[in-house]
Amino acid sequence: MQYLYDENGRRYLDAFGGIATVCCGHCHPDVVEAIVNQTRRLQHSTVLYVHHAIADFAEALAAKLPGDLKVVFFTNSGTEANELAIMMARLYTGFHDIISLRNGYHGNAAGTMGATAHSNFKFNVVQTGVHHALNPDQYRGVFGSDGVKYARDVQEIIDYGTCGRVAGFIAEAIQGVGGIMELAPGYLPAVYNCIRKAGALCIADEVQSGFARTGSHFWGFEAHDVVPDIVTMAKGIGNGIPIGAVVTTPEIAKVLTTRTYFNTFGGNPACTAGALAVLKVIEKEKLQENAFVVGSYLKEYLISLKEKHEIIGDVRGRGLMLGVELVTDRQLKTPAKAEILHIMDQMRELGVLLGKGGFHGNVFRITPPLCFTKEDADFLVGAMDYTISKM
Ligand code: PMP
Repeated sequence: MQYLYDENGRRYLDAFGGIATVCCGHCHPDVVEAIVNQTRRLQHSTVLYVHHAIADFAEALAAKLPGDLKVVFFTNSGTEANELAIMMARLYTGFHDIISLRNGYHGNAAGTMGATAHSNFKFNVVQTGVHHALNPDQYRGVFGSDGVKYARDVQEIIDYGTCGRVAGFIAEAIQGVGGIMELAPGYLPAVYNCIRKAGALCIADEVQSGFARTGSHFWGFEAHDVVPDIVTMAKGIGNGIPIGAVVTTPEIAKVLTTRTYFNTFGGNPACTAGALAVLKVIEKEKLQENAFVVGSYLKEYLISLKEKHEIIGDVRGRGLMLGVELVTDRQLKTPAKAEILHIMDQMRELGVLLGKGGFHGNVFRITPPLCFTKEDADFLVGAMDYTISKM
């Protein structure tokens, strides 16, 4: 279900999906049943005595990943997943430096807040050994859509900002909090190449772009033709229950399996049973295919709205992870900060809930449940058109 109801029973079309989290729809009966049944049977044990609900999901998850990415560690959130991935890269390589992208978001604990390159989300953390590379931003970036040119900055950071060896590179395939920014084509393959030459690991943060959201692929990185060394995920994997995961190769996983690493709640049976149900629903209801079809339809429709309204500077994204950037001047790309708040309020009045993001907070984030329909898309665009026309 893609609707939310307020305390007066009024219905809203949820086009934000709890921040790209509710992928099967709110309160999906299969997911609810799986969580309730498992909670009745066994809510918690310990990683020392693995329940089959944990093993079954780990196995199903590993089957969704390419190559040698077969070892799964569970966490409670995206932040924890990325903290773990960064630590693994440091342990495995023996080096400390991490490279992330400007405008990227990776979490709110010490390491991940360092990797996050967005002053709105940094609260006086001590950032050691983190370098923020030029963002391959196709809307405002100096090299337009030439991903290979942006990748040179990563090589320069390695050459001039480190000892020549780094631990890892972390990036989202589509930056979510940063305003639905798709990395320029050619960027990831070029960066993965120079990162691996520096002896480091490539980490794909799939917290938002994973789990069928982008429609064309199950994972966002697949659209870039790369295979990461570590993949992190959360949000959509549990449809709203707190679960995250890190998947890596047996070789890299040894850095943790030979130590006493544990996470008390990470991957408790109730969460993994729910997550397994999510995976089954995505397959049974063909939600990835739906994200592709409805997402492409919605994107086209939004592009046609851009032709009509000057305030829409850019429409971007993939599948049901779409962004609409508002500007007061198309030439100067001046962020329409006040206008977006007004439009958002009016759309809420009309019964549509949207998210917003980007450094200036002037980008609508459209990340609904993946069961969103063409009729929902029509309703959303109709409400946006009406609201902007009245301004
Ligand atoms: N990575 C990405 C790409 C995210 O969007 C987020 C959350 N917005 C996180 C990591 C952190 O996840 P969490 O809020 O579950 O800790």
